[in-house]
Amino acid sequence: MNRVDYLRISLIDRCNFRCHYCMPEDAELDYIRSPEVLTRTELQTLVSEVFAPLGFRRFRLTGGEPLLRSDVTEIVRDLAALPETEDLAMTTNGFLLASKAEELYEAGLRRVNISLDSLNAETFDKIIGNRGRSRWQQTWEGILAAYRVGFDPLKINVVVIPGVNDREVLELAALTLDRAWHVRFIEFMPIGNSELFGDRAWISSEELRDRIRQRWGLETASVTGAGPADIFTIPGAKGTLGFISQMSECFCDRCNRMRLSADGWLRPCLLNEMGQMDLKTALRSGVSTSQLRDRVAELLALKPEINYKQRESGTTGAYSRTMSQIGG
Ligand code: SAM
Ligand code: SF4
Repeated sequence: MNRVDYLRISLIDRCNFRCHYCMPEDAELDYIRSPEVLTRTELQTLVSEVFAPLGFRRFRLTGGEPLLRSDVTEIVRDLAALPETEDLAMTTNGFLLASKAEELYEAGLRRVNISLDSLNAETFDKIIGNRGRSRWQQTWEGILAAYRVGFDPLKINVVVIPGVNDREVLELAALTLDRAWHVRFIEFMPIGNSELFGDRAWISSEELRDRIRQRWGLETASVTGAGPADIFTIPGAKGTLGFISQMSECFCDRCNRMRLSADGWLRPCLLNEMGQMDLKTALRSGVSTSQLRDRVAELLALKPEINYKQRESGTTGAYSRTMSQIGG
């Protein structure tokens, strides 16, 4: 059985973007009320007294948009200082990164994944639901700032949507030619905006690799990441290409993670809603952290049975939460 040692922590369910596939502008989202959001102290307690003792060693801060949280730097500092933390990373849309990159690095963050679905400002604004002044340039500056400050590896996440940004796959892959960046193509998932999810809403990683192979050739990288991505390189390129193929290839058997939502729900599988556990209410009603540890340990034992493959059995209202609410 896989060792589950990786916790994705959503700091907030709100966002300054309204990506069409995640939080479409016209969707009525039920935001978590601020008193329901885990505080910095509660997060620290859960990580240090529940998750770390159970063997969790790697943590990723996500959201919503984690940089909207005013105490994000302090949370980074807390988690980076835990002796058990072996890896601390963040997934962000990058819009506020230029002004925060340095203080986050100084607080102990070493890795960032930045979402950038397009190199074309117009397409980008359309995807993120922006109608005002373009937000592309500031996002790009966030990426450059993170690179300058020394985040390594610096990963760019691209969700590929047919007819929207798939024409740019070669251009996005070319970002790895001269820079040691990791560009990762993610198959679009039927979470959140399910209306977008027609018969042909996602393109397989294999198809993307074929396009890249025809242009430059493609080699399997010698190092495979610990996560779900299959890693390749364009011959001679400084960076790598990752493919996350949760739709075309099931990787439940190598799943090593759980997710904690901003309101303290622990979720064993992204695509199956079984087994979720409300840690915040338990903590606030006085359940001790040693009891919480026992409950999470029981859930860990069940995790191999709770996965995408098993989603038909017992799933309650599948996909009712968007990625921004779950913590993608
Ligand atoms: N706001 C941050 C960001 O966009 O990077 C962090 C949270 S966002 C939910 C995390 C990742 O989930 C992003 O890379 C986003 O593109 C991806 N995502 C959101 N909805 C998705 C979907 N339906 N299918 C695949 N990826 C999705
Ligand atoms: Fe916000 Fe990230 Fe969702 Fe886009 S993908 S709406 S940036 S949480």
